[in-house]
Amino acid sequence: MRNFILLIVIFLATQWLLKKLRRANARAQADARGPGGASARTRHGAGANANAAPSAPPQLADPLVRCAQCGVHMPSSDAIVAAGQRFCCADHARRYAAHPTGRDAR
Ligand SMILES: [Zn+2]
Repeated sequence: MRNFILLIVIFLATQWLLKKLRRANARAQADARGPGGASARTRHGAGANANAAPSAPPQLADPLVRCAQCGVHMPSSDAIVAAGQRFCCADHARRYAAHPTGRDAR
């Protein structure tokens, strides 16, 4: 009887290991296929990001965008998007809406 229980435990352990291996393989392949391309890169936040956003890899740095009003550059996550343009602050978005060409005020 003890052998039987041991067999079940071993069986469950193998199933669990296989599942873990398969998941690790799938993740490695997804990393290799990603736009970054560097498969040797260390991935941080493993597991938590797996179902976040497959189209936007989290380790990709924010691209810099230009404020349509003053021309200052900032990460796209900090930018305020209004009327298809990006701005460094809400004030510039409002100013741009008032004077869409921006620099003809003078
Ligand atoms: Zn600005």
